Amino acid sequence: MSENAIEIRDLRKTYRGGKGAPPKEALKGVDLDIPKGSIFGLLGPNGAGKSTMINILAGLVVKSSGSVRIWGFDQDQNPRQSRAAIGVMPQELNLDPFFTPRGTLEVQAGLYGVPKAQRKSDAILEMIGLSDKAEAYARTLSGGMRRRLLLGKALVHDPHILVLDEPTAGVDIELRQMLWSNIRRLNEERGMTIILTTHYLEEAEEMCDEIAIINHGELVARDSTANLLGRLDTRTLVIDPVAPLAVLPNLDGIIAETRADGTLALTYHAEERDAGDVLEALRTAGLRIRDIRTEQADLEDVFLDLTATR
Ligand code: ADP
Ligand code: MG
Repeated sequence: MSENAIEIRDLRKTYRGGKGAPPKEALKGVDLDIPKGSIFGLLGPNGAGKSTMINILAGLVVKSSGSVRIWGFDQDQNPRQSRAAIGVMPQELNLDPFFTPRGTLEVQAGLYGVPKAQRKSDAILEMIGLSDKAEAYARTLSGGMRRRLLLGKALVHDPHILVLDEPTAGVDIELRQMLWSNIRRLNEERGMTIILTTHYLEEAEEMCDEIAIINHGELVARDSTANLLGRLDTRTLVIDPVAPLAVLPNLDGIIAETRADGTLALTYHAEERDAGDVLEALRTAGLRIRDIRTEQADLEDVFLDLTATR
């Protein structure tokens, strides 16, 4: 049995352009393995192809070519098994307004062929905090409640893999925290593999063990979160000089710039030099320092570096 929850090979998708619009190549040959048990982040700017990829996994979009294995089952050869292994919380709210939360979960369980005796609607309603709204019509629920119901819907068949497309985009802090704690618990207590797309880099940095970055339909990075962060080994020393600088000091291998607030930012590669060298060079240049702090690259720097238009 493979160690991977998902194996994607040379995945391509071209949307047919309608009404005179040209065809759109949304995925240009993506290879990606997602390990079992991980919380995996799929990041990328708007239009990168994240939803296309997730909707292909979910069986909502038909790929143009390539192969997808879900929990060891080829999507084309074993469509039923591969579908049963995955639950998807889509980006847009697609709920039938005339069903109640309990009704919504029951219908979804029916679609997945879960026998009545094995359904866990009450437990799911409890988990998503909608027990007291079980019999309310979906159209009367708040946006946050509907989103929680979408999460519940993704869980009715107890899938091995849970996929969430921008689960916290545009939600308030309270709901975001509730969603995140639910997701963490599903991962820790049930060993569920979690795949999520987000454009909140801070969140990916905090939640995800591994990250793939996609841009213009191509994978541009795939690594552990720690390695991605370590990849940019630049450090910046920010110095508040005693007197404003007339000229920038010319320091070998160090990029110096003055900022609007009068501080001097010195950026260098941690592999080549250390902070001591930089300070030594400043002293030699006759600069007196009032205050000093350091800045480190974060995921946002890595992201910008990898998705910058070239
Ligand atoms: P993301 O989720 O990363 O923002 P998408 O997968 O939604 O990106 O979109 C990738 C590209 O494919 C975009 O250029 C988008 O406009 C295009 N696209 C998405 N869905 C369709 C569709 N149904 N028909 C035509 N083009 C589409
Ligand atoms: Mg999207």
